[in-house]
Amino acid sequence: MKIINTVKDMQLEARDIIKSSQTHGFVPTMGNLHEGHLSLIRKAAEENDVVSVSIFVNPSQFEDPADLEEYPRTVEDDIEAASEAGADIIFLPEAEDMYSERRDTVVLPNKLTEHLCGLSRGKAHFIGVCTVVAKLFNIFLPSKAYFGQKDAQQALIIQRMVIDLNFPVEIVISPIIREEDGLAMSSRNARIKEGRRESALSLYRALNIGREMIEKQGIETSSEIINAMAESILENDGVEIDYIDIVSTETLEDAEKVDDVVMIAGAIRLDDDLRLIDNILTAPGGK
Ligand code: AMP
Repeated sequence: MKIINTVKDMQLEARDIIKSSQTHGFVPTMGNLHEGHLSLIRKAAEENDVVSVSIFVNPSQFEDPADLEEYPRTVEDDIEAASEAGADIIFLPEAEDMYSERRDTVVLPNKLTEHLCGLSRGKAHFIGVCTVVAKLFNIFLPSKAYFGQKDAQQALIIQRMVIDLNFPVEIVISPIIREEDGLAMSSRNARIKEGRRESALSLYRALNIGREMIEKQGIETSSEIINAMAESILENDGVEIDYIDIVSTETLEDAEKVDDVVMIAGAIRLDDDLRLIDNILTAPGGK
């Protein structure tokens, strides 16, 4: 396993991989790796000759400096876990190497940012994500890149970017990995305080209420489903709803009526500081 620290060295390595006609799977992460990340690395290892993982807490996608500051950094453990899951290369760049002081260019996603997290986190978040992923694609030149359905809007925006800007890479989206109790794995879960687990789980429980109403009860009116979900979340003290929405899986526009496959997506804020997101795909009668 190789550890590479500079953009220049990674670009040289990427060119060698292409010259040797090997397939190259790439998994971008911000570190603090858990089973969700490792599932992507394992899948990449099954499908490619060489697997690269980037660990870079990208400052430009954080709208809140405190969130960036508090983001967990566990590089030593990450290197071991990624290597065990099948990573051949781990890229650990410095922010100064990734971003020149005189940087002046970004990738600007549009319509897909006007929903869900784009409304609460702002467009700047997705500009930061697209710009860093575009840079990473140019650094790694991967044949396939792996993303999680956990960040469904991000995955869709990146898929769109790859088509719109003709990046020669296939995007693979993998299912959400959950804890035993159903909580979607996330680096932010480490910040759930003692005694607050049930409240953190309220979003996943609400998603299941929505699913049940759509799949078993045949309810089609989204507002009715969203109201029931919101009511169940708000039974928990200290939980605020950022958004709950039922949307098209292709455009992320609101689905007023559920007559096809939809995504139910939500974000909650726990005790005023921790923001958790989750989503499920569902359809009348089951997916
Ligand atoms: P992050 O380090 O949070 O930027 O995540 C890196 C990648 O891992 C993204 O493509 C995420 O969607 C994915 N990921 C994060 N959590 C999970 C999870 N619980 N299940 C599947 N993929 C995940």
